[in-house]
Amino acid sequence: MNILLIGSGGREHALAWAIANSPLTDKLFAAPGNPGIAEEAEVVRLDPADHGAVVDFCKNMEIDLVVVGPEAPLVEGVVDDLAVAGIKAFGPGKAASRLEGSKGFTKDLCARAKIPTAAYRRFSDAASAREYARAQGAPIVVKADGLAAGKGVTVAATLDEALQAIDECFSGEFGAAGAEVVVEECLSGEEASFFVICDGETALPLTTAQDHKRAFDGDEGPNTGGMGAYSPAPIMTEALVDRTMREIIEPTVRTMAADGMPFKGILYAGLMITDEGPKLIEYNIRFGDPECQVMMMRLKDDIVTLILGAVDGTLDKMSARWHSDVALTVVMATQGYPGSYEKGSEIKGLEEAGQSEGVKIFHAGTRREGERILADGGRVLNVTAIGKTVGEARDRAYAAIEKIDWPEGFCRSDIGWRAIQREKQ
Ligand code: ATP
Repeated sequence: MNILLIGSGGREHALAWAIANSPLTDKLFAAPGNPGIAEEAEVVRLDPADHGAVVDFCKNMEIDLVVVGPEAPLVEGVVDDLAVAGIKAFGPGKAASRLEGSKGFTKDLCARAKIPTAAYRRFSDAASAREYARAQGAPIVVKADGLAAGKGVTVAATLDEALQAIDECFSGEFGAAGAEVVVEECLSGEEASFFVICDGETALPLTTAQDHKRAFDGDEGPNTGGMGAYSPAPIMTEALVDRTMREIIEPTVRTMAADGMPFKGILYAGLMITDEGPKLIEYNIRFGDPECQVMMMRLKDDIVTLILGAVDGTLDKMSARWHSDVALTVVMATQGYPGSYEKGSEIKGLEEAGQSEGVKIFHAGTRREGERILADGGRVLNVTAIGKTVGEARDRAYAAIEKIDWPEGFCRSDIGWRAIQREKQ
């Protein structure tokens, strides 16, 4: 079949790699793509935000399936527009995308379906939000309701910080995303990510991962899109996975279907494993970036078969199998990220590094200029390795990084530290 993949990050490079390896794929296109994706797919000049252009392209090129990587086109309804044109697309429609697009929507759904999550209140004006925060006291969490690229969440250690975050949201800093605010209880525990694939009725468990959101070693410094990840997450025992399915995922999928917006696509639950059990922090409606990179390294089954199962409603007859090996990815970013940084520095040694045993390098923010690969973003490369243990995968990834000659880049040196500590116990 002919497939169009939408997106241009490391997540989409990993998806392109997996889709290109499927026996079901005849021809893979990607828009807008990147130089890594271009090795797996034909990259086309197409603006994913222009749904009319995407539909026309699919008709002209006889595309049988569209796979959407990032959340923005999903929240903007690209899957609905493709469906109207009779084109199959993987991912939720606009209504179901509110599970990521509106934190208030998800919290209300949790309340109705009795899903364990932080206690919360929704506010549409600063005065009432401030009053509630004062009454609750710190630590407390303030969240802009809509998509704010990971910047709309403040885990406030003090009341002052919380009040400032509330004012910031309502000041218009996050545009429409901040018109409403959720103020919620601060949970404590270890975080883990759990992924399922859904066809509207059935949720098929995929696997687990953990990521490192902070920019610097020791989980210090500003929040980023993610500086590294590994899969599986050692904390997610089989019993915890079963409990998460029963208490969080299944009630969500049932409620969405009963409300007339069946969820189809990847449902990614951000969890806090508290003393009382797993609690939902947030839902994402797509693969994580960089979690997808480690997941694709471990997936034994065919990704296109699973995606078609979700689109066609046949996941109840399927399973997803994973290599028992661990996969770990280290993000290489341009110095200055997540603040301001320069684009255009040259990266050398990628070919040799990519040939290291058990290693695959996924491109995120790169650009090709003739034979040269240049940095073109904040998060630039995902050096991903598989190993028998987290320690082995980590050693392989960092050995490959040694071969990359890019003085303008940096990475954390401690990806996987928590899991490696567990392995040593
Ligand atoms: P991202 O895009 O980075 O996934 P987001 O903007 O969608 O983030 P959340 O995932 O809801 O926001 O929150 C970001 C981070 O803030 C979480 O990974 C977690 O570390 C922390 N956090 C969020 N809610 C809570 C909470 N109730 N208690 C403690 N920590 C929280």
